[in-house]
Amino acid sequence: MYYDQVAQIDMPAWSRDRVVLIGDAAHAVSLLAGQGASLGITGAYVLAEHLSHAATVESALEGHERTLRPLITEKQQVARNGTRWFIPATPTQLRIRRTALKLARVPVIDRYVAAALAGKSTAIIDRPLGPTPPVAE
Ligand SMILES: Cc1cc2nc3c(=O)[nH]c(=O)nc-3n(C[C@H](O)[C@H](O)[C@H](O)COP(=O)(O)OP(=O)(O)OC[C@H]3O[C@@H](n4cnc5c(N)ncnc54)[C@H](O)[C@@H]3O)c2cc1C
Repeated sequence: MYYDQVAQIDMPAWSRDRVVLIGDAAHAVSLLAGQGASLGITGAYVLAEHLSHAATVESALEGHERTLRPLITEKQQVARNGTRWFIPATPTQLRIRRTALKLARVPVIDRYVAAALAGKSTAIIDRPLGPTPPVAE
C-alpha cells in the first residue's frame, strides 16, 4: 500500500535576475510522469550549455527556460492526462487498465501505450541550445 499526496510544481518563471531554479524546485512532474530525476539532470545539462554559450547570465537563464519549458509542459500534461490510468477510480477503469497493459506487450501497440504513459520521446540533449542555436559573436 502506498499512500501519499501527489503534486506538480508549475512556476510562472524559473529565474529572476541571476537566481535560477532547476529540477523539482522548478518543474516537479510528479510520480505520475515518473521522469523527474531524468528531467532534473537534463535541465542541469541544458542550463550548463546556455551558461557556456550566452553573452550574459540573464540571457543564458532565459534561453534555458525557452529550450526546456515546452518539454516540461508536455510531460506535466501527459502526467495529468494519465491520472485515471495510474489511479483507477472504479472497477471498470481497473479492468480497462489491466487489458491495456496486457495489449502493451503486442508490438506496435506497445508504442501507443508508451506514448500515452510517458509522452513523446525527445532528443533535447542533442540540441540543448534549442532548435535554432544563437550565432556566436
Ligand atoms: C514516489 C516517487 C517515485 C519517483 N519515481 C521516479 C522515477 O521512476 N524516475 C525518475 O526519474 N524520477 C522519479 N521520481 C522523481 C525524482 O525522485 C525527483 O524528480 C528528483 O529526485 C528531483 O531531484 P532534485 O535534485 O530536483 O530534488 P531533490 O531530489 O528533492 O533534492 C533536493 C535536495 O535539497 C535538499 N534541501 C531542501 N531544502 C534545503 C535547504 N534549505 N538547504 C539545503 N538543502 C535543502 C533536500 O534535502 C534534497 O536532498 C519519483 C519521485 C517520487 C516521490
